[in-house]
Amino acid sequence: MTIDTSPASIDSLPDYAPVPKSSLGPAVNEQGYYVGRIERNLYWVTDGVYQCGFLTTPDGVILLDAPATIGHNIQRAIDEIATANDVSNKVTYLIHTHHHADHASASSLFGKDIVRIGHEETRNLMIRDNDPNRPAPEETFQDSRTLEIGGERIELGWHGSNHSPDNSYIYLPNHDTLMLVDVVNVGWVPIYGLNMAADVPGFIAAPAIALGYKWTHLISGHMGRLGSRDDVTLHQQFVGEMVDNLKEVFTTLDPTVYYKSLWPNTWASVSGHLDEVVRRACAPLAAKYVGRIAGADIDSFVLSAATWILESLRLDLGVGIQVHP
Ligand SMILES: [Zn+2]
Ligand SMILES: [Zn+2]
Repeated sequence: MTIDTSPASIDSLPDYAPVPKSSLGPAVNEQGYYVGRIERNLYWVTDGVYQCGFLTTPDGVILLDAPATIGHNIQRAIDEIATANDVSNKVTYLIHTHHHADHASASSLFGKDIVRIGHEETRNLMIRDNDPNRPAPEETFQDSRTLEIGGERIELGWHGSNHSPDNSYIYLPNHDTLMLVDVVNVGWVPIYGLNMAADVPGFIAAPAIALGYKWTHLISGHMGRLGSRDDVTLHQQFVGEMVDNLKEVFTTLDPTVYYKSLWPNTWASVSGHLDEVVRRACAPLAAKYVGRIAGADIDSFVLSAATWILESLRLDLGVGIQVHP
């Protein structure tokens, strides 16, 4: 093993570029949350890392996701808004973007007596995972479903697997808002494995699908602020450049040295070859994106995202795959 297991100290931590001011959101309160109005009766809540949304209506509050880290602060944020506007603070509906525990595990705090809604695969996966914090939605949809609750219109859409197989779009046309979670981390680069993309071509296509909706405000699930259309475009540029660089390097780099010198350690050859492709493809990115998008100099995230894209270029798209003559 050559993995360094020495404990971290302040002196051993790497130096990173400052986080761009534009990547940060409003300060959170003493309890650790910020709640803001998006439009009319639509609000968003953040703890600086996770986000959810809610609508206050005559039929109660419609909650959009229930992130674990915001937890009990979801109800506190709702109470704050309900008191200020003299409307009901009772959550009656919870709509899930996808099944993941980090965005859904505060669900059980709202009890059994609410209507949970999500994609049918969200239901299947939550039943599979059998987590008491995340009761599976009873109300489901396949490709699309329009809800009219308390006089508000909510359009649910599923456009194929991306970050997760069930990840869905929640569109609020009368609030000029789209919710799409775990694709664009507004102001920040994707984390490991391209945000753990279950389907890389689907993940790469999702931002254009999001832009196909008419909206001004994006609830992206992360990080501390709402997103704009420009944030989606910047994410597309960053990922698109990574894809282009990977294709270019992968199809031009001569890997013979790895396969000759390391024989018969095939995995060492593959690792040497693909890791070099990834390093070369990512090398120009930090200089170009540091200061514009936070985390562009966090090598473990950038290299991991690129490795996952490279595997998808090979396995999904067949780039560099040669059939033996
Ligand atoms: Zn997720
Ligand atoms: Zn997430």
